[in-house]
Amino acid sequence: VTHQLRSPLAAILQYFEVLLGGIGGDLSDAQREMLTRAKERLESLMQLINDWLDMSRLSEGDIVKRLQPTPLAQCVDAALKGLEWAAKEKKVTVEVDLPGDLPLVHADPDSLREALSNLVANAVKYNREGGAVVIRAHQQGNCVMVSVEDTGIGIDAKEIPFIFDQFYRGKDREIRSQPGTGLGLAITQKVVRAHGGTLTVTSDKGKGSQFTFTLNVARGEPQAQGETP
Ligand code: ADP
Repeated sequence: VTHQLRSPLAAILQYFEVLLGGIGGDLSDAQREMLTRAKERLESLMQLINDWLDMSRLSEGDIVKRLQPTPLAQCVDAALKGLEWAAKEKKVTVEVDLPGDLPLVHADPDSLREALSNLVANAVKYNREGGAVVIRAHQQGNCVMVSVEDTGIGIDAKEIPFIFDQFYRGKDREIRSQPGTGLGLAITQKVVRAHGGTLTVTSDKGKGSQFTFTLNVARGEPQAQGETP
C-alpha cells in the first residue's frame, strides 16, 4: 500500500517539475501560477500520506523490539541534517548543548531521530526570523531528560491540551500559514511512550516553547551521582 500510494504521487510530482522546467514548451504566467499551486497542493498531500504512514508504521511493539544502547548525540546530528536548510532559510540558529559524559540511552535510533526531527522542525517552523533553537540533555537518575527550546511564537495555554492529538493544528494565522499535517506531535508522543518516557511542554505565548521528553539510561550505564535510580 505504501508503494501504491507513493509511486503515482511521485510520478505526478515529476511531471509537474518537468512542465515547470519548460521541457513541455513555454508556459504563460497564468499556466505557471496554476501549475505551481497544483504542485504545492500535491506536496502537502504527499506530506500527509508520509506522516500518516509513519503513524501507522510506528507500532509500539516494533519500537520496543529495536531498543538498544544508543548515543543521543548521533540521533540529534542525524535529525538536524534534514533541517539545516529550513533553519538557514528562516535565519534560525540551532544550538546543541549536550554534556560530553551523557550515558547511552535505551532507544530505537530511527524512531528517536524521527521524534527529535519533529520537535526541532516545529521549533524552526514556528519561530521568528532570527530566532533560536537549543537542544539540551542531562541525566537525572536512570533517565535522560531531553529538551528542545525555541524563541518562537509560543502556544496559547488553551490549546496545549489538544496539540498532541492527531491532526490538531493551532488556530493562529501564523501557524496556518506554515505547512503541516497535525501529526508531528502525535507521532513524537507515540515514540516517546513506546520508549517508556513522557513528553511534556511549557510555553509562553509570544516568547517561545520548550518540549521535554525522558528516555531511560541503557542498562549497564552509570547512574548519575547522588541521584536515586
Ligand atoms: P503541525 O506542525 O503539522 O501543525 P504538530 O502535531 O507537529 O503539527 O503540532 C501541532 C500543533 O502544535 C501545531 O499546529 C502548533 O499549533 C503547535 N506547536 C507545535 N510545536 C510548536 C512550537 N514549537 N511552537 C509553537 N507551536 C507549536
